[in-house]
Amino acid sequence: MNIKQPPVQKNEFVDVYIEDLTHDGAGVAKVDGFPLFIPNALPGETAKVKVIKVKKGYGFARLIERTEESPYRVEAPCPVYQQCGGCQLQHMNYEGQLLFKQKQMKEVMARIGQLTDVLVHPVLGMEDPWRYRNKAQVPVAEREGGLVAGFYQQRSHDIIDMNECLIQQSENDKVVQKVKGILEKHGVRAYDEAKHRGAVRHIMARYGLVTGEIMVVIVTRTAELPHKNQLIEEITEAIPAVKSIVHNINSKKTNVILGDETKVIWGEEYIYDYIGDVKFAISAKSFYQVNPEQTKVLYDKALEYANLTGEETVIDAYCGIGTISLFLAQQAKKVYGVEIVPEAIEDAKRNAVLNHIENAEFAVGEAEVVIPNWYKEGITADVMVVDPPRKGCDEALLNTIIEMKPKRVVYVSCGPATLARDLKVLEEGGYQTVEIQPVDMFPHTTHCEAVAKLVLKEQ
Ligand code: SAH
Repeated sequence: MNIKQPPVQKNEFVDVYIEDLTHDGAGVAKVDGFPLFIPNALPGETAKVKVIKVKKGYGFARLIERTEESPYRVEAPCPVYQQCGGCQLQHMNYEGQLLFKQKQMKEVMARIGQLTDVLVHPVLGMEDPWRYRNKAQVPVAEREGGLVAGFYQQRSHDIIDMNECLIQQSENDKVVQKVKGILEKHGVRAYDEAKHRGAVRHIMARYGLVTGEIMVVIVTRTAELPHKNQLIEEITEAIPAVKSIVHNINSKKTNVILGDETKVIWGEEYIYDYIGDVKFAISAKSFYQVNPEQTKVLYDKALEYANLTGEETVIDAYCGIGTISLFLAQQAKKVYGVEIVPEAIEDAKRNAVLNHIENAEFAVGEAEVVIPNWYKEGITADVMVVDPPRKGCDEALLNTIIEMKPKRVVYVSCGPATLARDLKVLEEGGYQTVEIQPVDMFPHTTHCEAVAKLVLKEQ
C-alpha cells in the first residue's frame, strides 16, 4: 500500500504563502500540495506558522509571525471580533473583501460549473458597509446578580456581554440595552441553559429601515412574562418608536430561538417596511431579508435580468413572503409564487393586498412538486425566477424548467457552489448563462449572494 505521509508534523514550524481563504475566513496555505488552514491569515501574505493538528488530508496551523502583509489587511474595528465569530472578514478592508468575493465566485463557477469564462461582474457592495442588519436576536444570561446580553463565545455556550454590534442597526443595539436594563431593574431572571431554569432567553429587536418602526420580542422559557405590565409601560416610554411588543414562549431545551407560542402583548401584530415602493408587513416570525438596502440592489438586478414588458407570465420559486414576486408583479402580466412555509405564503398574500397587487398568486408547497404539476395543467412561464436556500434547486425543478423552456431564467443564490452546480445542469439543458452579478448582502462575513441571468439558446 502506498499511504502518503503528510509533509508536516504537529508542532513543526513552517514558512508558508497564503493563497486562499476558506468559507469561514481562515487562510489556506499548501505545503507540497497539503492544505493547512490558518486563522487570521490573508491571501497574499507570507508567514511563519506552527502546525497544531494534522489530519488525513489537511491540517491546522497557528500564525506565529507575518513576514509579508496583505495590502488589504486592517485592524478589525470590533473589539470582540475574535471571540464572537459572527463576522469573519473584519481584518480585511472592504475593497479587499469585495475583490475576494468576486474571485471566489469566478473560481467556483469554473471548478464546479465548468463555466470557465462566464462574465462575473465586480461585487456590488455597500457605500457604508456597517450597521446594516435590521434584526437582532440576543441571548440573555445572569452574571453576579445582573444580566448580560450579547453573543455566544465561539464554540461554547458562554454568553459574552456586548453593548453594540457594528453590523447591527444602532437602533436595535439601543433597544436591546434598554430592554435589558428594564428587565434587570425588575429582577427578572434570565434563563439558565444548564439547569433549564429562569425566564428570559432572548431579546429580539426588528427595525423597519424606511419606516423607523420597532418591534420588541421577549422570549421566555416560562409561560408568564414576569412583571409584564411594568415592562410594557417602561419599554414604551423608553423607546418611543416601538410599535409592537411580543412575548414568545420557548420552553424547550433547544438552540432554536423562537418557540411555538407568540402573543402580542402591546401594540400591533406587525411593523412595516419598504423595499423600493413595495410595503411589507413583518411579524415576529416572518422571514424578511436582514439587509434591506442591499436587498433593493439585488431585486433591482433580478428585475433587470427578467427584462419584463408587462406581457409576461413569471413563476417565482422559493418566494418566501413574496418579496421578489411583488417586485416583479409591478412589471409583469402575472406572477405565480411558490413557497414551502405556509405562514410565509399567508404573509405574501397579505403583502399583495397591502400593495393593491392583483396579478400575483401564491401557492404553498415544494417548488419541485408544485411547478411540475402546474406545467401538467398547462401553466407555463416566460420567465422563471428561483431563489432557493443554500442547498440549491431540486433536480426535479431544474428538469421541469428545461422542459417548460421559459425564455429567461433569473437565478438568485446565497450559495455559490450550488449555483454553479445548477447552472451546469441548465446549460446542459439548453440555457446559456449570460452574466452573474454578485451582491454583498453581508459585509464582513464570507457569505456571498448573487443573481445570474440565463437565456434559452436558439434551437
Ligand atoms: N425569495 C425570498 C426568500 C428566499 S429564501 C426572498 O427574497 O425573501 C428561500 C426560501 O425557500 C425560504 O423561504 C424557504 O422556506 C423556501 N424553501 C425551501 N425549500 C423549498 C422548497 N423545496 N420549495 C419551495 N420553497 C422552499
